[in-house]
Amino acid sequence: QTFEECKFPSIMLKNIFTMGYRVPTPIQRAVMKIFLLKPKNDIIAQAQTGSGKSAAYLLPLISEIHKLKILRGEGLNRDSPYAIIISPTRELTLQLYENARAFSNGTCVIPARCFGSFAFKENRAEIHAGCDILFCTTGRLKAFISDQTINLRKVMFFVLDEADDLIKQKDELETDVKLLKDLMSPGHRTLLFSATFDTDAQKVAETFVRTGYYFVS
Ligand code: AMP
Repeated sequence: QTFEECKFPSIMLKNIFTMGYRVPTPIQRAVMKIFLLKPKNDIIAQAQTGSGKSAAYLLPLISEIHKLKILRGEGLNRDSPYAIIISPTRELTLQLYENARAFSNGTCVIPARCFGSFAFKENRAEIHAGCDILFCTTGRLKAFISDQTINLRKVMFFVLDEADDLIKQKDELETDVKLLKDLMSPGHRTLLFSATFDTDAQKVAETFVRTGYYFVS
């Protein structure tokens, strides 16, 4: 599976090549293939940091949202993201957001971020300027759902990055995830990424995905 074979919009292929990516890494090949060919299945992927895991899900996700927005003729999206990406730290959230910005440059997909280092007002302004993909930590996300800054009705893709750390660090994660998933569109896909899944983390991860999910490593 090359980047060209994934049928990404040509503007994205240009972005990918500008970033210096020539061929997909093994995890990218594996995840992109399932993402694009098995659109009804969830994915749990085990991938080391540095293996290219971010692009493995960001690229197909941006491509799908871009195509969908064009098909539906949708304009600026101020409060209903199509994708929610949760990660355990502000640093990773920011890094993923920066990656998504580079990949989506020139497409009709707008990434936004919300987490605790920003004032609420600042986050809100960014979201209102466009939020097709929202990169967040759970605290700020829940706050913005409560005050109706955003709603999850249109969410089609739900990603938990560094899921093992999320599972270990947050006692309330399972409750949060269930609460969030209940607010998402019923057919949404869940993707979990982690460097390792020990037995406990694996058990929790499996409660977040539908039966028939793919395990990729
Ligand atoms: P990640 O594991 O997503 O944090 O990516 C690790 C590093 O590999 C980042 O600096 C990426 O820009 C780079 N990278 C990811 N995919 C590729 C690729 N297909 N070709 C070259 N570099 C890549």
